[in-house]
Amino acid sequence: MAVTQRDQVGFVRVTVDGREVELPEGGSLLHALSGCGVDVPSLCDDPRLAPFGECRMCLVRVDGGPQPVAACMARVHQGMVVETAPADIEHARREILRMLAQRQPVGDDRDDRFHQLLRRYGVSPVGERDPALVDDSHPCIAIDMNHCIDCFRCVRICEEVQGQFAWQVVGRGADSRVSPSSAATLAQSACVSCGACVDTCPTGALTDRTSEVSTPIDRWTRTTCPYCGVGCELLVGTHDDDIVTVVPAHDAPVNRGHACVKGRYAHGFVHAPDRVTQPMVRERGHWRTVSWPEAIGAVARGFRDALERHGPGAVGVLASARATNEENYLLQKFARVVLRTNNVDCCARVCHAPSATALRSIFGTGAATNSFADIDEARTILVCGANATENHPVVGARIKQAALSGASLVVIDPRRIELAAYAEVHLRPRPGTNVLVLNAIAAAIVEEGLVDATFVAERVREYDDFVAHIERFRPEEVAAECGVDAADIRRAARIYATAKPAMAFHGLGVTEHTQGTDGVTCIANLALLTGNVGRPGSGVNPLRGQNNVQGSAHMGCEPDFLTGFAPMSEATRFEDVWGSAVPAHSGLNAMEMIDAATEGTLRALWVVGWDIALTQPDMNTTARALDTLDMLVVQDLFLNETARAHATVFLPACSAYEKDGTFMNGERRVQRVRRALPPVGGSKPDWEIVRLVAGAMGEGGAFAFASAEEIWDEIRKVWPAGAGLGYPRLEAPGGLQWPCPAGDHPGTRVLHAQAFGGSLGATTALARIAYVPTPETPTDAYPYTLVTGRALEQFNAGTMTGRSLTSRLRPTDELEMSPPDAERLQVRDGDGVRVTSRYGSAVLPVRVTDRVVPGECFATFSDPRRAVNRVTGPRRDTHTATPEYKVTAVRLDRTVDQ
Ligand code: SF4
Repeated sequence: MAVTQRDQVGFVRVTVDGREVELPEGGSLLHALSGCGVDVPSLCDDPRLAPFGECRMCLVRVDGGPQPVAACMARVHQGMVVETAPADIEHARREILRMLAQRQPVGDDRDDRFHQLLRRYGVSPVGERDPALVDDSHPCIAIDMNHCIDCFRCVRICEEVQGQFAWQVVGRGADSRVSPSSAATLAQSACVSCGACVDTCPTGALTDRTSEVSTPIDRWTRTTCPYCGVGCELLVGTHDDDIVTVVPAHDAPVNRGHACVKGRYAHGFVHAPDRVTQPMVRERGHWRTVSWPEAIGAVARGFRDALERHGPGAVGVLASARATNEENYLLQKFARVVLRTNNVDCCARVCHAPSATALRSIFGTGAATNSFADIDEARTILVCGANATENHPVVGARIKQAALSGASLVVIDPRRIELAAYAEVHLRPRPGTNVLVLNAIAAAIVEEGLVDATFVAERVREYDDFVAHIERFRPEEVAAECGVDAADIRRAARIYATAKPAMAFHGLGVTEHTQGTDGVTCIANLALLTGNVGRPGSGVNPLRGQNNVQGSAHMGCEPDFLTGFAPMSEATRFEDVWGSAVPAHSGLNAMEMIDAATEGTLRALWVVGWDIALTQPDMNTTARALDTLDMLVVQDLFLNETARAHATVFLPACSAYEKDGTFMNGERRVQRVRRALPPVGGSKPDWEIVRLVAGAMGEGGAFAFASAEEIWDEIRKVWPAGAGLGYPRLEAPGGLQWPCPAGDHPGTRVLHAQAFGGSLGATTALARIAYVPTPETPTDAYPYTLVTGRALEQFNAGTMTGRSLTSRLRPTDELEMSPPDAERLQVRDGDGVRVTSRYGSAVLPVRVTDRVVPGECFATFSDPRRAVNRVTGPRRDTHTATPEYKVTAVRLDRTVDQ
């Protein structure tokens, strides 16, 4: 008999209700039956959870045995004979439903799984409603426990997927009830509003507030989340071109049926009342709504004037991590082909440019070495300068689950972030001393003989030079300066070097320093010393902040690189496709463009989907720079702070829900973005706007694309490592990870297994990184150190989350301050504090918490009214110019202002 592919992947023959089918061997019988279209009733099962076997609805008879078995607990085996609906089992199911219906309020006719089953078995609810079982506290989740059937799926998913334990079971037997843990209401509990409990609830006891009004859903559209770089795949339910609900895709390889509060609930911005959907130009200080042709004409004229009078060095383009790959590609092509300048950049400049630079330098490829799926295989996870549970919540939850399942967790962060509670070691260095701590871990690994000698012999160069360099960083030598106990540094070193494979994640707490690139390089050194490169469960993995910040830079929105991070020496490939020469002169990055504007040499700037006025550091200097420009074009959904205060032309773009394209997540995965609703009002996709401006400037021929897919096909021509990523292949769940150089290539989950990237070959050299303290040190006048960062419920400048349900969970920015400092300043939660640096000041309400140590404070920057970046300073990473957001010396004064 011929061996079929299905035999090879472990399919066996099973007889189901007299019909022979092929099912995956060893898997859950219930899920296998569901997969082949046999709908066995169940209430307590969810494929995302461990089998529970409590509801007894999924009983089936196997191999004619006398006792029925729960299909969720049974495993598929060869030759199995299954009866799914014999009369006695159907009778038992009806009786179970009758019993559950005793507590269900009369008259509710819902469309959830439980009520569908009631109707299927002819059972009616007969219970009474108890108003005390309604909890209206939560802005996103409606709770009516009158509908609870004690399947405990909400409790289990909160534990097993999110790791939050926000729900609990109280009482016993028939009196047991589900309620929020350690709190009277869900809003007061530890709930992080991920919506997993809602998503799994089969009865309507938990529902989304956005959809509780039972709006029918006309269409489901699968797309990729428009928020962080995890890249969760979501299903968008729409009715009459409005978003009713957003839920996670259960078969998505990235998020595996999970999402966070932003992906689930922060979509209200799409139809926010202040959404701008018509172009505008500013005349004598006032905005005037204009037609698209008039607005496009104004932009073309402004660029032409600047080019004629000042040349291509006087114009620039800032692209967007919120835009698709296709749109970013067109923006950098526009800069190079139409404006004849390399003055193009994106917001990777202010976040992970140091990661790309460091990883390209040491591993030959400037991107994450591994994948989120590797978390399952890591025995140690090192998290450095990344608050994953708030900023990359689905990955953060998976790291928590790994720690709960026995993986060792090492956290390096000045704040006591949530993951610290799960860590074997939490190192709390003084802000700005990452290089000291990471070098000290390397020194301990060398000194204690924990180096992977085989890996070093085969894949690493300059080891002896590195050993001579690293000796001076012995933990005992640096402990006082970095503020971390030497014994803790040694413990971290032993865990990372011995419990292998060890996977490192890092975030902006590493990159946004004057030694940002150096910090990432130090992490790469650790991976090389211990052989934690090129194998599953290991590597160095930047957690990318915005949905498409990896893609934006990768598409060529960098002054020194073309698409695919191709160096300018490879420009010929692009010139052949573009039919136009790539400018030879070097370009300005985003920080240099602000400097050039200050000096009067940059005259016209196009900023797409990036509120630079609010998010650049040293906001007062940025504002003065933007005001010098002859033309500032802002392309966004809203009159953001940059547009409101400085722009001369506003072009209304549409959101990721309103267009097609692709995003690239933090693990090099390219996934489809699909249009769930048409562009709102007169707004347009960014790529269409670029095409119009190029046409108005006489270069329409090179931009005559009719769809995002056409643009993508051109990208694949100039980017060899992405050549195999055609749209038809990207239709599959999870898309594909580059490198994927051919149509039959499976994509790449782990980089550097045999050789490093670029021209490095099999070996690379350890980098000898010196410690250079930041000049931004506390003084008597500015005695505290301010660190800025993001929080779970808000996103960056708050442009989208600030106009969504989630803003009710966190209405404004806060200043975290330690209890001793709060006592010294005589302030309590909610009191106003003025934060003043050498560069400016802002007023914030205080939250007193031991998440920060005395002498340090932490603030978010999502509320334009707070304008926290008035406080941050002008210092930059020495390699990439990424701003030093993580260290600002400040003074704190109590104030009655709010
Ligand atoms: Fe979106 Fe990131 Fe949340 Fe996933 S973890 S739903 S990608 S914001």
